[in-house]
Amino acid sequence: MTLKVAIVGRPNVGKSTLFNRLTGRKLALVAPMPGLTRDRREGAFEVAGQPATLIDTAGLEDAEAGSIAERMRVQSERAIAEADIVLFVIDARVGVTPVDEMFADIARQSGHPVILVANKAEGSAGESGVYEAYSLGLGDPVAISAEHGEGIGDLHDRLETEAEALLRAGIAEAEAAEAEERPIRVAIIGRPNAGKSTLFNRLAGEERAITGPEPGLTRDAIAIDLTWGDQAFKLYDTAGLRRRARVHEEAEKLSVSDALRAIRFAEVVIVLLEADRALEKQDLHIAALAADEGRAMVIAINKWDLVRDKDAKRQEFRAEIDRLLPQIKGVPMVAISALTGRGLNQLMAQVGKAYELWNARFGTGKLNRWLSEVVDAHPPPAPGGRRLKLRYITQPGARPPRFVVFCSRPEAVPASYERYLINSLRDAFDLWGVPVRLFLRKGK
Ligand code: GDP
Ligand code: GDP
Repeated sequence: MTLKVAIVGRPNVGKSTLFNRLTGRKLALVAPMPGLTRDRREGAFEVAGQPATLIDTAGLEDAEAGSIAERMRVQSERAIAEADIVLFVIDARVGVTPVDEMFADIARQSGHPVILVANKAEGSAGESGVYEAYSLGLGDPVAISAEHGEGIGDLHDRLETEAEALLRAGIAEAEAAEAEERPIRVAIIGRPNAGKSTLFNRLAGEERAITGPEPGLTRDAIAIDLTWGDQAFKLYDTAGLRRRARVHEEAEKLSVSDALRAIRFAEVVIVLLEADRALEKQDLHIAALAADEGRAMVIAINKWDLVRDKDAKRQEFRAEIDRLLPQIKGVPMVAISALTGRGLNQLMAQVGKAYELWNARFGTGKLNRWLSEVVDAHPPPAPGGRRLKLRYITQPGARPPRFVVFCSRPEAVPASYERYLINSLRDAFDLWGVPVRLFLRKGK
């Protein structure tokens, strides 16, 4: 079954432009030409790498019998009924109109998943329209500019999430099994001698099946598929990482670029530390790279078999990590022995959990309840005697979770207050070990 996605919305909001953008057609075809019949077009595109059909419900400029509103309604209803996912488009520069509201009702009543798209949001002219879009009750709008190609990545992310939800709900049964088996991509990074090869081989075990090189991977990078518990993982390794076991010269220099390479393939990164050695600059550097790249992270303290006072050691590492890596505060930390295999079940369970959090999406209602609570508990400062107002929060994306707080004067919010918001967010939504991106935007 091919996924069907319909674009609906009133005339002139940019449906055709979006259709062309998503299907890769020439933009030149789009022009507000009265009389041009483009009642309905279908085109091929991809959602999460799978073929999908895009339906553009279209121009109603050509006059036929029946009122325009009536024909728009009928046509949209037909497209919506057929579609698996609806892209409901509004013009962010105009804001929400009564006709948009009528369309929103149709979309909502269909029971199909609807992604609210606020088009023409390039520059600042669309900001208030994006904000207004919330009033339609269709969840978080995705702000895009179909014409300039902005926000299209976010839109693809949302499509992917909706497609996955559909698959999980069993609507596309044939594809469900495949999607659920999609492995979590994991990389093991750490300084030389931390035990990366030992861990890799231990996890790979007997089932070791080398599947690389893959497109996009360099020739010397390999990936293995493995199942741990009932979760599938794809574990990335680079020849550099494995060679390290033998050649320790030059290793220090190589390890950072190797780590970065491994990180880029991964969704979750295991940062390997050594229990019998203190945290070093290089460890911090490698962990910070993973956080900068926005990956989910689990810290594994290896060679735990060598530790005598395990409780003291655990506390020592916890304190050091939280102090030296504030950007991943509360990151899960698992003690393991790659040599004996102890702790690996717990490690892989934490990897799975970190992956879930990294993908998590939170509803607008829940987020805004949280915002008003934290603002009440600890109001923002009042630089220049004028109190800052934090008005609204939304989550425009995941992997890693991204949040936007609309406020009166974003530039005046001190870094310490931003940190307070991020830490409270982590606390309230259990977002530990996941880089959280919080943006402040001006908004009414
Ligand atoms: P449709 O009637 O909904 O299919 O809308 P069209 O795709 O024909 O677009 C209507 C008008 O809006 C055209 O003049 C487009 O060039 C313009 N338009 C479409 N997308 C954007 C955008 O992202 N930004 C701006 N500023 N204009 C856009
Ligand atoms: P890499 O450079 O990070 O790939 O590290 P290796 O996997 O080559 O391991 C470096 C050394 O640490 C080897 O001598 C391993 O046998 C040893 N090692 C790895 N894991 C453990 C562990 O859990 N306990 C102990 N005691 N030694 C380990």
